[in-house]
Order: sequence, then structure tokens, then C-alpha cells
Amino acid sequence: MDRTIRMADLANAPRALRAAETAAVARVLASGKWILGPEVAAFEDEWASTCQTDAAVGTGNGLDALEIGLRALNLGPGDEIVTTSVTAFATVLAIIRAGCTPVLADIDPATALLDRESVERCLTPRTRAVVLVHLYGQVSALAGWASWAQERDLLLVEDCAQAHLASWDGQTAGSVGAFGAYSFYPTKNLGASGDAGALVTSDEALADRARRLRDYGRDGHATHTELGMNSRLDEIQAALLRQRLAWLPSFTLRRRVVADAYRAGISNPLVELLPMPAAPERHVNHLFVVRSARRDDLMAHLAGNSIHSLVHYPLSIHDQPVGRALRRDPAGLATATWHARQCLSIPCHPGLSDADVAHVITTINAFT
Ligand SMILES: *Cc1c(COP(=O)(O)O)cnc(C)c1O
Repeated sequence: MDRTIRMADLANAPRALRAAETAAVARVLASGKWILGPEVAAFEDEWASTCQTDAAVGTGNGLDALEIGLRALNLGPGDEIVTTSVTAFATVLAIIRAGCTPVLADIDPATALLDRESVERCLTPRTRAVVLVHLYGQVSALAGWASWAQERDLLLVEDCAQAHLASWDGQTAGSVGAFGAYSFYPTKNLGASGDAGALVTSDEALADRARRLRDYGRDGHATHTELGMNSRLDEIQAALLRQRLAWLPSFTLRRRVVADAYRAGISNPLVELLPMPAAPERHVNHLFVVRSARRDDLMAHLAGNSIHSLVHYPLSIHDQPVGRALRRDPAGLATATWHARQCLSIPCHPGLSDADVAHVITTINAFT
């Protein structure tokens, strides 16, 4: 095999998609309307209906979508928010930037998603919300989490940055919580050609407040009703996202075919696969993650066979230099720490050929 199999292949979009993207950028350049114009409005409508919500609010990135949503819910100083220690740092940073106190819970060893019992140990009278992270593209019992939260008078928030189009029993990621935060960072399942994000919600008041917060706290024109930020999705990125959105279902299907081939073909006692979800739409295979007690050796073996891999994440949040002082499950976060030492993400994206997938399988099965 003479070419490297990468974790993402952003420079090689299908020719028809690249042509549509180029035309879309030209259209926006010619329009002279570059911030909060018709492309953003159209993308927001399309993304809201894709997510089965009434509204979407475009933001500069996924971190800001989460911070803006939390602030729009009136969460702030004194409020505790429980989330997982196995996530992108942005999840926890958004909670801190909103002025809230993050409390880190442990994961279910099978899926690496938030563990309900650990969350319960994290609850205090100050707990106001739980942020679910749909890690690696998986969703878990959305309706079950929603009723659990409602019974406890807690808000449920969804970090959907890895889970575009994932659904649980007909409910799309982002449509169950008070809001869902999406990132369109280039490597996400729906990626812009730069930074972009959005929050989705069916709470019109929350959407209105988020629209103000992303635009300095401006009330429509020049009246500032609160202190916001500058985090607007721009017209070029929105136009590019609209082109990619048309391809998202087929890209998602291709990820599933690749993941199914890995699940059927990888067989090595040194490599553990995470379980397949009971229904395929519960996992959009943003990342295909395996575990191995000899993870670093496996990574080197793959690299020696021209296959890139990455670790998501080498350190759980509580093991980060800036995470060590954060509040957490009083019973500890042993599963999160264990998972971080063993997990490895192997290439899983629509740009992989069948030959690439076969080479990855053969190489992993030959690991000794
Ligand atoms: C990527 C990601 C984010 C942050 O998104 P940005 O657009 O990079 O700010 C937040 N949470 C999770 C789980 C992510 O994967």
C-alpha cells in the first residue's frame, strides 16, 4: 500500500461537492452580504428541521454554542453542572466560561458514555443541569435521560458535536434536551471549511436570547439588553455547510458501512471493540474506537503500515493540568482513567475505499 490512510481526508471531497462548494463561495462573495445574511438564515432553517427542532442559532464554533445555550438558560455562578470526564475539553470549558461549576462523572465502561449512577453521586442541592455528550457519535437512552432529569427538576443539555444525525427511537440528537450544541469543525461529521457551530432548540425564548448573546447582547438593532459576545456563523461557512448537508446522509451511511466492516472483520484477542448499538441509527460513527492494553504498540504497528490513528482522549478532563482541581464523583473516576489509557481511534470516514478498510482490518488482525 503506497498511500497513508488518514483519520480524515478533507482535501479530497467528491468532485461534485467541491464544485458546489466553490460555486457557493462565489455566490456569497458576489452578494456583498457576509455576516448574518440569507445563507445563515437558510442553513439555520435546514439544520433545525434536520434536528427536529423549531430553531437553530448559528454560532462561531461548538464551544460558543454550548456557552451561549447555558447562559441563555440563565445558568451561572453558583450553579453546578454534571458532565462526563471523557469528552473534548470544550464541553467543560463552556460550563466554566458560562460561570458555572462543572462536576465530573464517570463513564459506562461498555460505551464510554456518561454513567447514570456516577451522575447520581455527583448531585447536590446546587445541581441545575446535566450535559450529555454523545461521544464518538453514539446517543444513549435520550427519552430515559429526559424523564430522569425532569423527575429531579434538572435541565438536560446535549453536546452533539460528534453526533450529527444520530437518533434514539425517532428522536434526533439535540431535540430532547433544553438545547443541543453542535460543532461544525472541519473533521466533524458535518464540517465547515473553518470554524462554525450552532445550537438547536424548540424553546423560542431560549433561541431569541441565544441570538442576542451571539451578537453582543443586542436587542435587534442598537439596544444592548445584556452583555453578550461576538460569535456569529458567517455567510461563507453557512453556504458551505448547506452544500455539505446535502451529502450528510450518504456520508453517514458510508461511515456505517466502514464501521460494520470493522466490527465483522477485526478479530484479535489484543484488541477490544466497543459493542454495536442495538439500532444502527444510535451511532453515526464519528470515531471508531477500540481498546487495547497495549494501545501505544498498536498505534505504532498501524503507523508502520501507513495507517494513522489518534487517541480520544489521551487525558480525561480530571487528569488534565487544569482539570485536577475540578469537582467530581466522590467515588472517583477510575473507568475514565482506564479508558483513556486503552482507547484508540482508527480511520473511519467517507473518504476510505474498500481496499483501505480491508488493509486496516488485516493490519489490526496481524498485531501481536
Ligand atoms: C469538537 C467538540 C466540541 C467543540 O467544538 P468546537 O467547534 O471545536 O468549538 C465540543 N464538544 C465535543 C464533544 C466536541 O467533539
